[in-house]
This record gives sequence, structure tokens and C-alpha cells, in this order.
Amino acid sequence: MKVMKFGGTSVGTPERMKGVSELITRSGEPTFVVLSAMSGTTNSLIEISNYLYKKNPEGANEIINNLERKYLTYIDELYSTDEYKEKTHEFLNGEFNYLRSFTKDLFTSFEEKNIIAQGEIMSTNMVVNYLQEQGVNAILLSALDFMRTDKNAEPDSSYIKQKLTAIMKENEGRQIYITQGFICRNAYGEVDNLQRGGSDYTASLIGAAMIADEIQIWTDIDGMHNNDPRVVDKTEAVRQLNFEEASELAYFGAKILHPTCVQPAKYAGIPVRLKNTMEPDAEGTIINNVLVRGKIKAVAAKDNITAIKVKSSRMLGASGFLRKVFEIFESYQTSIDMVATSEVGVSMTIENGVHLTEIVDELKQYGTVTVDSNMCIVCVVGDLDWNNLGFETIAAEAIKDIPVRMISYGGSNYNISFLIRESDKKRALQSLSAVLFN
Ligand code: ADP
Ligand code: ASP
Ligand code: MG
Repeated sequence: MKVMKFGGTSVGTPERMKGVSELITRSGEPTFVVLSAMSGTTNSLIEISNYLYKKNPEGANEIINNLERKYLTYIDELYSTDEYKEKTHEFLNGEFNYLRSFTKDLFTSFEEKNIIAQGEIMSTNMVVNYLQEQGVNAILLSALDFMRTDKNAEPDSSYIKQKLTAIMKENEGRQIYITQGFICRNAYGEVDNLQRGGSDYTASLIGAAMIADEIQIWTDIDGMHNNDPRVVDKTEAVRQLNFEEASELAYFGAKILHPTCVQPAKYAGIPVRLKNTMEPDAEGTIINNVLVRGKIKAVAAKDNITAIKVKSSRMLGASGFLRKVFEIFESYQTSIDMVATSEVGVSMTIENGVHLTEIVDELKQYGTVTVDSNMCIVCVVGDLDWNNLGFETIAAEAIKDIPVRMISYGGSNYNISFLIRESDKKRALQSLSAVLFN
């Protein structure tokens, strides 16, 4: 069976929902479909939660009313029969009454995760109703019944596999199985999610659990491009990527894939195909085990990075210095992306700066601390094994006019990362594209 995931823009209007329905039924084969919320909805739901958190029910109500107005107009555009118009109307009424219930009694503990989950719950119900109206043998399976994280907030793969297998057995013989991306339950059974953009991760986890033939991520662009299309003008789709290359690109800012999405597919050996909903016949990108030797594939960049340097003569020849430094980051659950060391100092980068002040404070016991904010990691990805001569020179040469704060090479065979100022990002990406791909 194939798993097909459609992102927010792919289900962003009734017209698009009809397009998705056409795409998932055209092969006639049983297919498992994962849907995101309609584009913009998750942001609105987060905004509603923020107003509720600030105990401002009017603010929350205004967004709920706007969202409701928009959703109600979709009913006439999507369905042709009174039966399905009424059915969906009733369902959406229930949804918006549920959201409003939180504005009425601000002193009951409101559950942000429950509010945020409604986007995917609405889109999947709307599409399944449409398919059923069209006579398709489709069923909606609630992700909350099988998608679960463990006590470390990591997906509980064996639970997911066991539950999903049982649910699929109970529902054998359907053509289309639809579920929500992004949402899950945590180890305590509470509604939770897999972080922003997490629907890709849902699709990959489901594909791995079901040992699918292929996991397809359908979005608004024809695959992984060789540079960030939001920043660089002339980018091109990369036809094939190795799992490792795709992971590096996703982790270092290629927004088309959720950072952890590749892992479950990689471990299960299931190819991932990136496709464009607006241009379904375009080839897209295939991600698999094949490694094309000696080729630079793409460039990605991640903003909002903070670099922290600890300089200390105590590091000289001392063992255990790095462990003590890293333990401080660990105690604040802050992960380190890049590291560069010398005999008398170490530089590290972090993306999550929530505990920056505390971390810096504690690091001061080990040396002089310097912090550089508004930095950006630019990452060049491909087969960059050290036996492939000259790639690091070509990449460095491409950005020779840009001040580089840190370089990381050799951590994996697939990437060279440069830490530069965020304000130099555009120039760096453009220059890398010109040198590497033209
Ligand atoms: P979806 O809502 O379908 O999950 P996303 O917005 O999360 O879609 O991801 C698709 C977007 O990722 C594209 O519109 C594009 O702007 C952006 N993007 C960033 N880097 C890349 C890249 N290297 N290749 C393709 N798209 C990229
Ligand atoms: N709807 C969620 C988000 O906007 C998940 C996703 O689209 O992947 O982040
Ligand atoms: Mg996405």
C-alpha cells in the first residue's frame, strides 16, 4: 500500500480538496492518506490559544468567528447534496462550539493541544465526507487512536505499529483510509502533536509501521530544490536524494520536509517521493538508499541560530572539559547543532534560545563566554566523503567574500556547514547556487 500525505496548501480550498480526492483515487488501489489542516488554520488555532492564555475571550472569539465564517462558505463549494451539506454543517458547528466553549469559562484549564488539533480533525472530516458523497469506499481513522509518543516525547513505534495493524485489520477492504497528520497522544494519553510541520512525520511513521511500498509527500513545489526557493531565484528540483542527504537538508532548513520525517522511512527502507499537488505529473524527488558518488546535491539554510564560545586555558590538555560544558546544555534540554573546538576553546550553536541566559550564566564557571546572535547555518549537502577531493574548497571559495564564524566538516559524509550572519544568508545562498549548480 502507498501512503500519500497532503500539506496545508494541498487541501487549502474546496477546489484543492477535490483535486486531492482525484489524486488519491485515480490508481484505484487501496491507499492510506494523511492530511494536514487547511493552510492558515493551525496558525489561527495557535492565535486563539494565545488569546485564551492571556485571558482575552474577545480576541479569541473574533478569530473563531472569522474562521467559522470561512469554513461555512466551503460547504456549498465542496458538496452537491443536501445530505452531505447538512452532515458537514453539523460537524463544523460542533467544532466551532467546542472552540467557543473555552472562551466561556476561562478558569477551567483550557487545553492548547486540543485546540490546535482541530485543524487536522476538520480537514480530514471534510475530505472523507466529500469522498463518501462521491461514492468512494473511504473511511476516516482517528490518529488519536494509534499515533502516540513515549515519555521522552518520541514516537512510540511499537505501539503505533501494533495499534495500526489491529485497526487496519478491523477495517479491511476499504479503498481509501484517511487520517490526521501532526496530532497524536502523549504517553499519558493526552492530546499532543508532533511539532509544526509534523504531518510529514506522521506519514513516515505510518509508512514504516505498515511497511508501505512508498511514502509520498505531496506539497506545493515539484520536489526538493537544490537551494531555498524562498531566497534564491533560479533553483531546480533534485531528482534523487539519499536518505542521509535528505535528512541533512530537512534538518538544516529545507522546509519541504519536517526534520525528523526521513528517519522512520530510512530505517524501514521505504522510499519517500516528494510530489507537487498543483503539477501531479512532474517527476518530483525520490529519496532512497542510492548514493550518487561525488556529487553535491543541494544547499539549505537555517536561521535564528545563536553561537556560544567558551574560551578557557583550563581546557588545555584537560579531560572531561567538553562533557561538563555539554552537560549544561543537556540540563536545559537545549540541543547543539554545530561544534568547533580548539585547544583553548569550544564554539557551539543552538537554535532553541529559551534558556540562553541560564546556559551562559552556568558556562561562565568554565571560561570566558561570548555570544553571537542572529546567525545562520548554511549547509552544503551531497556525497562529501573526504576522499572526494576539493569539495570543501569549492564550497568555501563560493562564499569567500562572506565572514564565516564557524565551519563543520567530517561530522557526517554528507555535509559541510558554515555559520554566517543571518544578514549574509541571501548573498551566501545565491553565490553557492551560482558556483555549485550553474
Ligand atoms: P506543506 O504545507 O505541504 O507541508 P511546506 O510549506 O511545509 O508545505 O513545504 C513546502 C515549501 O518548502 C515550499 O513551498 C518551499 O517554499 C519551501 N522550501 C524550502 N526549502 C525548499 C527546498 N530546498 N526545496 C523545495 N521547497 C523548499
Ligand atoms: N498543520 C500543522 C502545521 O501547520 C502540521 C503540518 O501541516 O504539517 O504545522
Ligand atoms: Mg510542511
